[in-house]
This record gives sequence, C-alpha cells and structure tokens, in this order.
Amino acid sequence: MQRSRKTKIIATLGPASSDYEVIRKLFEKGVDVFRLNFSHGSYDEHKKRYEIIRALEREKNHSIGIMVDLQGPKLRLGRFGSSQVFLQSGESFRFDSDESDGDETRVYFPHEDVLSACEVGQDILLDDGKLRLSVRDKGKGYVDTQVLIGGALSSNKGVSFVGSSILRSALTEKDQADFAFAMTLDVDWVALSFVQRAEDVERVRAMLPSGCCTHILTKMENQLAIDNLESIIAVSDAVMVARGDLGVELPPEVVPIQQKRIIRMCRRMGCPVVVATHMLDSMVHAPSPTRAEASDVATAVYDGADAVTLSAESAVGRYPVESVRMMERIIMSVEGDSGYRSVMESWHPPPQPTMADAISLSAAHAATTLQAAAVVTYTESGSTARLASRERSVVGILGITTKKTTARQLSMVWGVYCVIAKALRSVNQMVEEACQVALKEKIASIGDVVVITAGIPFGTAGSTNMMRIARLKALDKVKRP
Ligand code: PGA
Ligand code: MN
Repeated sequence: MQRSRKTKIIATLGPASSDYEVIRKLFEKGVDVFRLNFSHGSYDEHKKRYEIIRALEREKNHSIGIMVDLQGPKLRLGRFGSSQVFLQSGESFRFDSDESDGDETRVYFPHEDVLSACEVGQDILLDDGKLRLSVRDKGKGYVDTQVLIGGALSSNKGVSFVGSSILRSALTEKDQADFAFAMTLDVDWVALSFVQRAEDVERVRAMLPSGCCTHILTKMENQLAIDNLESIIAVSDAVMVARGDLGVELPPEVVPIQQKRIIRMCRRMGCPVVVATHMLDSMVHAPSPTRAEASDVATAVYDGADAVTLSAESAVGRYPVESVRMMERIIMSVEGDSGYRSVMESWHPPPQPTMADAISLSAAHAATTLQAAAVVTYTESGSTARLASRERSVVGILGITTKKTTARQLSMVWGVYCVIAKALRSVNQMVEEACQVALKEKIASIGDVVVITAGIPFGTAGSTNMMRIARLKALDKVKRP
C-alpha cells in the first residue's frame, strides 16, 4: 500500500492515541512515522504503543517508522509551595540553590552550572516564553532578576536563557535511562532534544550498541544549534525544525527565516528534514484548523521538507484522526498545484562530485525524459534512496532493501516507498525483480519504463554506481524460480 503523496506525515502518540483502533486509523489516514515522546508517559505506555504499531505493520505488510524522542537537558524550575504563584512586573525574583519550596520572591533552580554561567543583563524566559525576567545581579549559588513580563507560574516549568551559550551535556540521567530502554525496543529513530553542537550527536552515536542501525534525528531548538547548523547536519541522519522550543529562544519573526535556512541546507546536504510543532495547533480543540495553520503546513511542503509533524494534535487533542486527514489534504493540495513543481525546481541542490550523486541525478533525468513509472533504487543502508529523494523528482521512488530497519527509516523520506526483498545474486535478477515489484505494488503496468539504480557489488552500503533502464514486459509477470 503506497501513498499517493511525496511529503510524509509524523504523528506523536499520547493519551489521545494509545489504543489499537485509534493508532490503526491514524496509520490508515496517512501516518508514516509514529513518535513516542519520552518527555511524557511511562515505559509501559510507550511499550504498549510500540507493540501496537509493530502488530499493525505486520497486519498491513507496510513498513512503519518509530521514533523515540528524548527530552534532553531542558532546564526546569524547582517546586513552589503553592499550586501557583504570581510574579508581578517590576518586582525582583531570585533563582537559587536552596532546595526548599519557592514563593513569589524565589525558587530553587536545579542547574548550578547554568546559574554561574549566566550574565548580568541576560533575559530569562519562563513557561514557553510567557514570562520574561532580566538578570540584575548574581552571586555564589543565586541569580537575582527583575520581572519584565509577569504572570502566573507553577512548579517545574521550562526555563530558557536568551542568547545563552552555556554548554550542557547532551543527555541527562533520565535520557540515558530512556535511551537504554529505547534500545531494548527495535526503534528506527532516536530524536535528540536541545543539541548544541555536533559532538552532542556524535556522543550519542557512540552509545549505540554495535551493529545497531538506529538513526539519530537532531532537533534544532536553540541558538547554539542554529550557529552550528552545518556541522550538526553533517553528523545527523535527519533534522527537525523544533519550533516549540526554537520559538521561545528566537524572536517570532526569525523562526520562519531559520526554518527555510535549515530546510535548504538539509536538502543541499541530502539530510532528511522535518518540520514540527503547532502545525495544526487549533485542532487540539477544534475539528478544523485556522487557514493560517493550513498555510503553515503548505509552506513546509512547498519548501520541500521530507515530513510534517503532529504533536499535541495527535497526542492529547480531541481530533487526532481528523488532524492526520487534514494534514494529508493540505499536502495533496499543494503537491497537486501546478506551481509546486516550479517552486521545487527553482531550488535544486547542486550535485556533489560523487559517482552516487551523478547516478541519482541521471536517473531522475532519465525518468523524467522517459516519463518512467518509477525510479527503483536498491538500497541497503538507505543512502541510495535518500540520494534519489534529494532530486525531488516528479517520478516516485520505489526502494528495495533486504533490511527491515532501512525500509522503516525510509518511511520518513520524501517520495520514497520501500519494500523488503531477498538478497540479489546478479544484475539480470535485479532488473527482473525491480519490474516484478513495481508491478505487484501497482506502481507500474506492462509497457511502462522503470529506471533502476544500485550499487555493485550488491549489499555494500553507499556504493551507488549503476543505472539500468527497463521496460516491463508481460513475461515479467512470471515469478522467477
Ligand atoms: P518537543 O520538541 O515537543 O519535545 O518540545 C519539539 C519542539 O520543541 O518544537
Ligand atoms: Mn522541544
């Protein structure tokens, strides 16, 4: 069952989407990758959702990606004595290392390194930017601030230091435990929150058990990550424009600019890129989105993002299934627009001087010239298929792999539909099988042309070096012995 669109859909599971029936509907309406958000929920809940997805995958015979999202070193306040305190604009407020309950004048802040590194004059945002304070003075174990924008505040709310370059370790103790748990499941992606530099990603990669093919998705959610964008993309398997937290650190008018910059650089470097957070936010409560939200999803699609993401809409919203349906309708509408292709082609990444890229570019040209039914890529690690996808060609990409994980990971990649097959022995067998699979999956009919790319010798990752063009003959229907 291949989908009739190129841009993929990621949906976060949560209390609103935990039973089999809802998850099945989400998949049927269009979800390609499910995100398990480890900022919330117990291991038991995540494992139950994980098992439902894998059961669904077997039942539908369609690879489904699963992403575990680690909370990362998000800074949080300590606790208050009452359920809520109110900070008045103009008043002073202290963050300190006293673990007792806080009140209107002070609160415990459990990150001493950050307290000592912050600077007088720096602004602090609380609760996703709803409150703003400015650092006036600091001493050993405390920071005094003046409240610029006051408001209600409760225990454990998120804290962000504007323009901060305080380096923090990539994984907290909770993340390490969550990571170890994720490794007991066969997850396809681990998403890292609050990454600041390439080393953060490399450190986690070094923690993957040997032979483990789990991919790492880096969430771009602070200024330092933006500053280190290119080096971070170079070591990541995918990148997320995480606008929830990014939008707290950066002024609103800068977020769209950075979103485009991140997408463009990822497309240039052949790294899958996804856009996330608040895409259809009003659908948390309402059965249809605002037109501004529809336009936001459309912008990500026009920019050529690999996938768009549902967060609260599918995890805790009233309309999870409707949100997926709406996202699919917006994607289809954009992809069907006659202007879409010219927008995509107006920015084609320059080819890299590699054999693999030369083949991928030629395959896309050949497929367009011959009005081929598909580009069929034999892919072990998924890199050949990702290169084909980088072309953002009008012709769909059929991936064929022997690896389950590769097929699942490609479910997040623009324009790729991937099936699993046995290892090949010869080029003739490859051509024959490519035609058969295209027929069976109803991607091509007898008489159609397919353009096939692969790396010889078979099974060597990253060795894309050949292209074949084949026309489907009636004979191809005959199963090979
Ligand atoms: P989160 O990440 O939902 O885990 O916070 C996404 C974002 O910040 O946009
Ligand atoms: Mn975030």
